[in-house]
Amino acid sequence: MSKKWYPVINYETCIECGACVEKCSHGVYDKKESKPKVIYPEGCIDGCRGCQKLCPTDSIEYVGDAGQAGDCGCSCSGCC
Ligand code: SF4
Ligand code: SF4
Repeated sequence: MSKKWYPVINYETCIECGACVEKCSHGVYDKKESKPKVIYPEGCIDGCRGCQKLCPTDSIEYVGDAGQAGDCGCSCSGCC
């Protein structure tokens, strides 16, 4: 369980195919919608990229992923 690793969807490129929602069995996404909505980030498994691997439009990134954690330009995963 981690709050420092969970998916963030780029809705500008997401085509709402629902593959990520269908894939995850940890309650992270709202299963009632094919448009991915992260409702339980705490359920995401550290380092899991299961949904990202299935995304046809590369629209999923993770909070906590090295180098993509924040906007300040550093590569640490905690400061922003
Ligand atoms: S990374 Fe894994 S645990 Fe996290 S939302 Fe995607 S499929 Fe679920
Ligand atoms: S797999 Fe990618 S394109 Fe499909 S719903 Fe999820 S984020 Fe959107």
